[in-house]
Amino acid sequence: MFQQPKVLITRDQIRREIARLAAEISRDYRGKQPLLIGILKGSFVFMADLIRQLQLPLEVDFVKLSSYGSGMETSGKVRVVQGLKTLVKGRDVLVVEDIIDTGLTISFLMDYLRRKKPASLKLCALTDKPSRHRTAVNIDYLGFTVPDKFIVGYGIDWNEKFRHLPDICFID
Ligand code: 5GP
Repeated sequence: MFQQPKVLITRDQIRREIARLAAEISRDYRGKQPLLIGILKGSFVFMADLIRQLQLPLEVDFVKLSSYGSGMETSGKVRVVQGLKTLVKGRDVLVVEDIIDTGLTISFLMDYLRRKKPASLKLCALTDKPSRHRTAVNIDYLGFTVPDKFIVGYGIDWNEKFRHLPDICFID
């Protein structure tokens, strides 16, 4: 049985880190109109906070992926269950992800998007667990490196619970 989530990264730390990321992204994409693609459902809170700090004209879309894994780990066999409504070809695409664990999910999505011929393709991740990577992942904009713990809160769930927690937490 899980215990109550414990705070790993506070809402204040998150706010400051997003301000830093947003300043960097705004500078790098100056003069462009990027398409930000979030991965549902976990990235929706991060996306909402990030875009409100960006000093850019931008568009937002979401994809929903499913992994055939069971329990807490991904199997690496990923498929798109809800695709994009926006044309990716020729766009400056920035993928917004909540958490990179083995890296298999994001690698699948980056390959999927690359085949759609965007003008550019980059990745912004709120958290990363480098000790868990099973494939090379290039994160262009990273918020926090986290230890090998099960993360919840700030949009991220365990069995649909805990998404509403304002801090990034972990459960044992
Ligand atoms: P990966 O393919 O990188 O192993 O897994 C990425 C996905 O697995 C994330 O988008 C997330 O849905 C889930 N995941 C990985 N680590 C965690 C974690 O610590 N907590 C939660 N709630 N989900 C995780």
